Amino acid sequence: MKGVLYVISGPSGVGKTSIIEATLKRVKNLVFSVSCTTRPRRPSETEGKDYFFVDFDHFKKMIQNDEFLEWAIVHNHYYGTPKKFVEDQLDQGKNVLLDIDVQGAMTVMKKAKEAVYIFIAPPSFDVLKQRLINRGTETKENLERRLDDAKKELSYIPVFEYIIVNANLQESVDQLCSIIVAEQLKVKRVIDRLGVHRFFENGGETNEQTGR
Ligand code: 5GP
Repeated sequence: MKGVLYVISGPSGVGKTSIIEATLKRVKNLVFSVSCTTRPRRPSETEGKDYFFVDFDHFKKMIQNDEFLEWAIVHNHYYGTPKKFVEDQLDQGKNVLLDIDVQGAMTVMKKAKEAVYIFIAPPSFDVLKQRLINRGTETKENLERRLDDAKKELSYIPVFEYIIVNANLQESVDQLCSIIVAEQLKVKRVIDRLGVHRFFENGGETNEQTGR
């Protein structure tokens, strides 16, 4: 009984963290995968909740020990998804949400075709720029880098299955919750989870018409 893996990407400043936090409060049986990063911690962030903040040597050892499902260099820092946590949770039937950049999403796509890929986009590039400036977490140089990277990230939109245009936080949260729930109601997933016998009188014999 495996859970569903949801991969969320989108440019820095688009509002992923707020959407994800609200969604985690609303959807049952959904857990967030906390990444490792070499980026310095922001004052608002908590170790183990937002990220595991590690130094480069530690990160390098984790790469060597094959401890990441994926990792990438994003805005000049290393970020990676610890593999064991994700696998354990999925094996226990929990649904897992990743917030990773498009490079990471491409790596996961090669390994987990059955995962659900969701892109969060800004209403426009100008809105994104203004949000990043208002957030006030970046130096001028970092801001320029994040905006350059955002242009590249937006070019990957066609590779994703779903897109949420984040013009309004509440609507975006509703949309993400809808995607998550709808994916769990796909016939294949329900039958994998509950067993086909649940729905048929013949107790799980193959259905003659569908062959399933
Ligand atoms: P921030 O530094 O603003 O928290 O995150 C910068 C970017 O790194 C975001 O786009 C975020 O999705 C991405 N990111 C966070 N964790 C991971 C990870 O484990 N792997 C990859 N590839 N990207 C990540």
